Amino acid sequence: MIGRDTEVHDSTIRLVIKNGKTIEFSGPADITRETTHAIVNAANSSLLGGGGVDGAIHRAGGPAILAECRQIVSKIRSLPAGKAVITTGGRLAAKHVIHTVGPIYRDGEHEEAEKLASCHRESIRVADEHGLESLSFPAISTGAYGYPVPQAGAVAISSAVEALAAAKYVNTIRFVLFDIGTLKAYERAAEELLRSNTASPYQIEKAHS
Ligand code: ADP
Repeated sequence: MIGRDTEVHDSTIRLVIKNGKTIEFSGPADITRETTHAIVNAANSSLLGGGGVDGAIHRAGGPAILAECRQIVSKIRSLPAGKAVITTGGRLAAKHVIHTVGPIYRDGEHEEAEKLASCHRESIRVADEHGLESLSFPAISTGAYGYPVPQAGAVAISSAVEALAAAKYVNTIRFVLFDIGTLKAYERAAEELLRSNTASPYQIEKAHS
């Protein structure tokens, strides 16, 4: 842990979707230390690295990640918001990094929610295509890209629940949140989803970790 005054804790909120698939919340925590099969990077369209969680992932994972990003960019030029690609995890404990580009938040009227939902769906789809069972997300778009945290949490969790329900291999999703305020906001969004979920085709429960 770097300069944080609280211990990492796994939240008491865990969304349990039918057939044992779960969504967990952890924080304050550094996603580069996660041991899930993949971690998700909140990248930018150039895929060439940046600040925030992107910089932390490249620093911790080493040059092999950037080398693969360069190869991908030489083919697709840039990665649009809402899409996702996979690379090695380099030196990370996670074998893979799934790079996705969140929307830059303007006013909520420019398809920000749709693009943020797509980041989660696409990342989970890519993980599933590669037979990965677990992946960790940071709070995509809530840093430099300015997405208000409570709204981002609601979109992130509801889209993750739907994509997880449809996945063949992915069974565990973790939201790994860098600061306590973001963790609390995501927990509140999960509670809200539990309350409003009565008519959904899947079941979500509150459990204690
Ligand atoms: P974006 O450009 O998508 O907003 P940022 O990296 O600026 O991406 O921020 C996204 C979120 O990632 C923010 O909540 C930020 O606090 C968080 N973050 C930054 N570093 C880390 C890290 N090492 N582990 C987990 N989350 C991180």
